[in-house]
Amino acid sequence: MEEKHCEYCGETTGIVQCQCGKYFCNGKIMNAGICQLLYHMRVNSHFSISFDGVVLKCSQCEETNIYNLHYKYNSKNFLCSHCLKRQNNKITKQLYTKSIVNEGAVIIDNYEVGQSVSCVKQDLVDNIESQFPKEKTNKKVKDKYLTLKDYVQTYLYLSIVEKKEDRRVVEVELRQEKQNIKFEKQGTCTVVEINLYKAIGGLHVEDEVIISCGGLKGMISDTNSIEIKLFPSLIFKSSKCVFGGNITSSRGKTVTVQLDDFLFG
Ligand SMILES: [Zn+2]
Ligand SMILES: [Zn+2]
Ligand SMILES: [Zn+2]
Repeated sequence: MEEKHCEYCGETTGIVQCQCGKYFCNGKIMNAGICQLLYHMRVNSHFSISFDGVVLKCSQCEETNIYNLHYKYNSKNFLCSHCLKRQNNKITKQLYTKSIVNEGAVIIDNYEVGQSVSCVKQDLVDNIESQFPKEKTNKKVKDKYLTLKDYVQTYLYLSIVEKKEDRRVVEVELRQEKQNIKFEKQGTCTVVEINLYKAIGGLHVEDEVIISCGGLKGMISDTNSIEIKLFPSLIFKSSKCVFGGNITSSRGKTVTVQLDDFLFG
């Protein structure tokens, strides 16, 4: 069998095939919170992969979005988050603890994918990506979507296009004990008032904000902001809870955020 090489770095370990037919490794990109494969998938709105010619999918509903797939030790089967939730068997539920996507890394150790040790520069990746012929897309808003998948992929594609404008992601750390953050129920929604140590430039009314309670630093980046909203429980594994919303007012050091319903805790 011909050995497959990563399109970005040439690595031959930790290689999977993306839905577009290209091969990528699960090695790192310097200073990015996301591996080479996920980076390629994000910038192209690709969601499915295969290994050794087998498309990785939920064994019950055939969902192929890798952000949604879970597996258990020593089994080649995957279950998607949705089917996993519907399992009546408690033991099955507890066994499927592994997810393909783990805080920006891709780990598929029920197949012999392996781990790439390669680490490349962002410039190199962007350069190679810009040389791929761009796929023609017909992803435009439609009056009617024939499948849920079509709807989701259209939405994801459009939101990625929208995010491509040059807006940096800012991370702010607050300490609970100083009571810098106040949750308040107002009518039908919850509003959070955040008092910052110092005024932070670049925060504007209507900006999107993600508030995580505990967990690792630096989990949010320009590259994974969409995944975070769709699958917060996967990305913020070590956080107690995660809220998201939009800034409704920003005066000096006080920022008010109105919470959306994408949250868990
Ligand atoms: Zn691809
Ligand atoms: Zn690579
Ligand atoms: Zn499923």
